[in-house]
Amino acid sequence: MRVAGRYAITMGPRGVVADPIIEIEGNRIKSIDSQPGSQADFWVDGIILPGLISTHTHLHGLVAYGHPVPPPAGFWPFLKEWWWPLVEDVLTAEDVESLAAYAALLHVKSGYTCFCDVMEAPYAEAGFMMREAAAIDATGARAFVSNEATERAGPEIAQKLLEENAALLDLSGRVQGLMSVHTTFSCSGDFIRKAKETARDKDALFQLHLSEGTYHVQDTQERFGKRPVPYLDDLGVLDEMTIASQSVHLTEDEIETLAAREVNVSHNPISNMEIGTGAAPVAQMLERGVNVTLGDDGFVRAFDPFINMSTTFLLHALTTGGGHVGTQDVLAFLTTNAARALRLEAGSIEEGNLADLVLLEDSSPAPLGPENAIYHTVLGAASGDVRAVIVDGQVVIYRGVAQLVDEEQLKHRSMDTIHRLWKGSA
Ligand SMILES: [Zn+2]
Repeated sequence: MRVAGRYAITMGPRGVVADPIIEIEGNRIKSIDSQPGSQADFWVDGIILPGLISTHTHLHGLVAYGHPVPPPAGFWPFLKEWWWPLVEDVLTAEDVESLAAYAALLHVKSGYTCFCDVMEAPYAEAGFMMREAAAIDATGARAFVSNEATERAGPEIAQKLLEENAALLDLSGRVQGLMSVHTTFSCSGDFIRKAKETARDKDALFQLHLSEGTYHVQDTQERFGKRPVPYLDDLGVLDEMTIASQSVHLTEDEIETLAAREVNVSHNPISNMEIGTGAAPVAQMLERGVNVTLGDDGFVRAFDPFINMSTTFLLHALTTGGGHVGTQDVLAFLTTNAARALRLEAGSIEEGNLADLVLLEDSSPAPLGPENAIYHTVLGAASGDVRAVIVDGQVVIYRGVAQLVDEEQLKHRSMDTIHRLWKGSA
């Protein structure tokens, strides 16, 4: 298959390539050359991007969008009075499957070729995560799936959740597993360590929420006499295979530790703004060499990478006075940095990499050139400009239409789930 366009933002050593022609063989990029007027199977009057990657989502966030019971203000009330009882604790295996399928498709339609899902459904029937993995696989998306293990529902359920997650670590291919635990206020040190050891045994990634709100920091200090990063470091769970999502409240020393341990950070700005937990110190993390990536945290508007990218840029322009987190940085969060975090041969358009591409039509009246292609992508483009999405060498979206699944069917199935759950919480 050959794909061509006006420009390709490779995010690799070749920078922005004009008149690109990309040859795909199987699920890999065979070559990329610059050749005006080439014949191609797919051509876009605009930009070809490497597939965009969200390193942290909760696909079941689909239930929460527009929920008839408004979430209370504050981090702890948000979790304890709303997100846990009205969303996560009512999910069945059938709900997980239907929500994951449609939310996965929404990700792919808007330009995410890969995402890491953190599903928390402590009362769902056994086997719910394998059902989720199969539902995502059918959409054509690349994904890392995990069951967010937690001890908040008691030791028996905690053990069941760990086992459910461990089974995912044997998956290979386009949909793989990673190990997730919630965080330090819902999981004991022993539990977190045990989960990390299971991940290490299987050479798998490990994910947890870190210092999302000030509550998290206070709780860890009160109970363990340390801030969250030194506490987790002492548990031995911080390394290059760990993804710390959120990471909002960090001291300089904590940022140094994350850099030294090569921990990957998944920054989730839209969710942080919604809950009011603060702006993560992304500029400082970049200065120290932390591998920063971007997630959407299950906030439905952020299922759209273009909204997520522009919001990220604007947030840090506002909080730092501008110039510290650039458009190139933001695009790297969803491409090269994310691929590094997930150990994927992806994130840049280079020979031998996975053939995950987004074809973006140029709808702007402003001239498009190699000098402004990245700026245009991060601040000017929208998911409505996505003309085609290729994952693993397969066209999964073309002209906005899902090629492998029936979108209407997935949507209606998820609507049935959402309506039933909302009735239960009214
Ligand atoms: Zn999260």
